[in-house]
Amino acid sequence: MKNAFIYSDDFEKFDYGPEHPLNPLRLKLTYELIKAYGLLSLEDVHVVEAKPGSEDDLLLYHTRDYIDVLKAADSGLMIPGEERYGLGSGDNPVFKGVFEGAKLVAGASLQAAMLVDSGEVPIAFNIAGGLHHALASRASGFCYINDPVIVISTLLGKGRRVAYIDIDAHHGDGVQDAFYRDDRALTISLHESGKYLFPGTGFEDDLGEGEGRGYSVNIPMPPDADDELFVYAFNEVGPPLIERFRPDIVVGQLGVDSFRTDPLTHLNYTTNGFCEVVGKMKALSPRWIALGGGGYEITNVARAWTLAWAIMNNVSLPDELPDTFLEQYPLDGFRSRKLRDEEYREQGSRKKMMRDEVGRVVARIREKVFPLIKPQMLQT
Ligand SMILES: [Zn+2]
Repeated sequence: MKNAFIYSDDFEKFDYGPEHPLNPLRLKLTYELIKAYGLLSLEDVHVVEAKPGSEDDLLLYHTRDYIDVLKAADSGLMIPGEERYGLGSGDNPVFKGVFEGAKLVAGASLQAAMLVDSGEVPIAFNIAGGLHHALASRASGFCYINDPVIVISTLLGKGRRVAYIDIDAHHGDGVQDAFYRDDRALTISLHESGKYLFPGTGFEDDLGEGEGRGYSVNIPMPPDADDELFVYAFNEVGPPLIERFRPDIVVGQLGVDSFRTDPLTHLNYTTNGFCEVVGKMKALSPRWIALGGGGYEITNVARAWTLAWAIMNNVSLPDELPDTFLEQYPLDGFRSRKLRDEEYREQGSRKKMMRDEVGRVVARIREKVFPLIKPQMLQT
């Protein structure tokens, strides 16, 4: 069965400005590297042109007044009172096309969701999606519209059980907030601890409330955590929870700002740990909507999401980047490296301290959270 890759050349137009760390070229580079490896012309791949979502789609989560202000901001001109909605700050500038761009990203994630939910494809990937910080009436952390929340809300509306797994370096706070009291969506976020990184939330004792108690799972990682700790923490928490919860669909946020060479965060993952976890996520997901996320070293983004798309399609790729691609994009991050990073491990007393800390967090989640998840029986 074919997998769907959702894309539009217009993703590049979602341009926050030259000083902003989120460079839209990262999406173009990813697309071009995937194409250069021949992964868009595989027999089992279906490339789908992204289409904008409607205002009604956005209103599944966002408030009318926020959408009206964001729409007015599409002109690129300042809107009176925009600060109240998180707009115009360094993180979330107002620029021409901001609303149209946000609609396109959300629409692409919804297309991915519909293709997967209908059974047309088992996996769909929107590399532009995963904008997990946006709140109902506020832009935050480079995110204007929260496409994961819109996707999950749409699926819940159809009676599906949804698990959301977020491996971005930052806590998936917007998604957690939206479903904090809801036991139909299980959200799992594995991120750098909020003690050291934006948005400063997502601690292991934040479990959800009311009906949703136990259904918000947070695995904060210490700065410098490496692949070994990442894979360990994921394996200890992700598979047992998914097996218990039995989702119909998994939504995965595959942010790669967790890599050693990312300029904004302090984690030390590489493509090696990332690929191991992505492979596990694939194996755990009965159906899978994969979304992008953070990643501010653009050559990491292109390499990691190319590897992710190869895993989704059961293809193994050579480590040498295609010559045609290198000739077109002769960036240092490509020329000095291969498709995969070299292995990296922290050592010594720092590693021991981190191992103890991650072990403590995992044990606490297993003790406090696991018993709260009502096991889902197999339907006969
Ligand atoms: Zn991030």
